[in-house]
Amino acid sequence: MQLISSPQEMQKLAIELRAKGKRISFVPTMGALHEGHLMLLREGRKRGDTLVLSIYVNPTQFAPTEDLSKYPRDKGGDLAKAKGCGTDIVFFPSDEMMYPKGYQTYIEVTEATKGLCGASRPTHFKGVTTVVQKLINIVRPHVMLLGEKDYQQLVTIKTMVKDLNIPVEIVGVPTVREMDGLAMSSRNAYLSREEREAALSLSKGIFAAQKAFKNGEKNAQKLINIAEEMIKAAKLPRIDYLKVCDADTLKEITTVDRPARLLIAAYLGKTRLIDNCALENI
Ligand code: AMP
Repeated sequence: MQLISSPQEMQKLAIELRAKGKRISFVPTMGALHEGHLMLLREGRKRGDTLVLSIYVNPTQFAPTEDLSKYPRDKGGDLAKAKGCGTDIVFFPSDEMMYPKGYQTYIEVTEATKGLCGASRPTHFKGVTTVVQKLINIVRPHVMLLGEKDYQQLVTIKTMVKDLNIPVEIVGVPTVREMDGLAMSSRNAYLSREEREAALSLSKGIFAAQKAFKNGEKNAQKLINIAEEMIKAAKLPRIDYLKVCDADTLKEITTVDRPARLLIAAYLGKTRLIDNCALENI
């Protein structure tokens, strides 16, 4: 497994690999790898000849008030896990290399980022799309794997790729959960024992609503009420949003008459967790 920190070196190698006819699959992450990330790597391993993982805690997607400096980091553990999944290259750039002095160019997806997490984190997705476009230009992947866990991020990046004719295939990977159903997240490490227990109500709530949908309930507000009731019963979570949206555009809908998604963000103490599930007849 090769460790590369220079964007120029990574880009040069990617161009050489492409010239040799190698298919590059790419998993961008912020590190502190857990089973969710590893699932993306395993899926990437199957879909390409060369598997590239990037580990970069991107400052432009954090607001000044957010947890950038405290974001969990575990380089040693990450490298061991990446190796275990058959990663060929780990791209590990520094802030100075990604945003050198004089940096001034950003990419914005306007509609998909308006609501949900975009409403409470207004600068977040601009940072995400900018760094992902930079990473695509550096790593030159044929296929990029992203988690459904960050559903708005997935839709936003799919939109960017389509709108800008970026030649990469985007694959969404289903959310990996703890045994009890909590969506795996690097931020779960911040939770106290009480918060961890109460956080379980998020997945329980959305899955109760999903079950009601499968049993025929199509009214979005009623589905929201089912989830909300369970989450409120856990007392600790403070709901930021709980919404039913069109699965492709993320526009809010009142009746689930097309593929849709139930999405939640909630605070447990200072930790903001997100989760979502599909509302569709498969
Ligand atoms: P992050 O390091 O949190 O920026 O996440 C890197 C990638 O891993 C993103 O595409 C996430 O959507 C994905 N991811 C994070 N948690 C999970 C999970 N529990 N299941 C599947 N994918 C995940």
